[in-house]
Amino acid sequence: MDADAARLVLLGPPACGKGTQGRRLARARQRSYFSTGKQLRREVSAGSSLGAEVGPYLSRNEYVPDRLAMALATAWLEGETGGWILDGFPRTKPQALAFDEILGEKNPSLRALFLDVDRDELAERVAQRRECGQCCWVGTRAEAEMAGRCPTCAGPLMQRKDDAPESFQKRVAVFEQLTLPVVDYYAQSGRLVRVSGVGSPEEVFTRVERTLRNHG
Ligand code: AMP
Repeated sequence: MDADAARLVLLGPPACGKGTQGRRLARARQRSYFSTGKQLRREVSAGSSLGAEVGPYLSRNEYVPDRLAMALATAWLEGETGGWILDGFPRTKPQALAFDEILGEKNPSLRALFLDVDRDELAERVAQRRECGQCCWVGTRAEAEMAGRCPTCAGPLMQRKDDAPESFQKRVAVFEQLTLPVVDYYAQSGRLVRVSGVGSPEEVFTRVERTLRNHG
């Protein structure tokens, strides 16, 4: 990623591959990576006061209040001096507007990468997705069954609670209502990079890299 795309936010419906592609890009480009969703789930598991506050929203498959998402992301960014990749933030138009104010007028150097995947494909992926309860590992049900424990840290492998079919449908609806306006917002300010998220993680990664180079 060249200097212009050193600040990247990842947008897309649940299970579009934001986490997989975000971590890969971060490794390849030596950028810091932060997922607000993963951190929120960790806070809930750890029983922190933030976890207690956000837990009910996550259980209902609703977004947490903007002020909590903002506080989480900006606290993480405070320690960051180089380039970064934010997975799942900003996720509402008020968050995107407030984020632009914090980073400076319209953030010309920020790029928003939208991973486009249709609903049927998303539902299939979500049914197959498994993740580690301890680290960042994400894989398929077949991989999880073969490995038994997390291949990275030997932690327990599980399906995310919010990947159950009814939860997933609600998350897609919330995404369409609250996050599609963020996609439009970045498109209107010329900062949106739209990439098809269909294909193997390797294929999508190659496409993402190529597209980012062209839109840097
Ligand atoms: P994810 O792992 O990105 O799918 O996020 C899981 C859940 O965390 C979402 O369904 C939301 O409830 C919550 N969440 C993550 N990021 C945000 C955000 N920026 N604003 C509000 N809620 C968020």
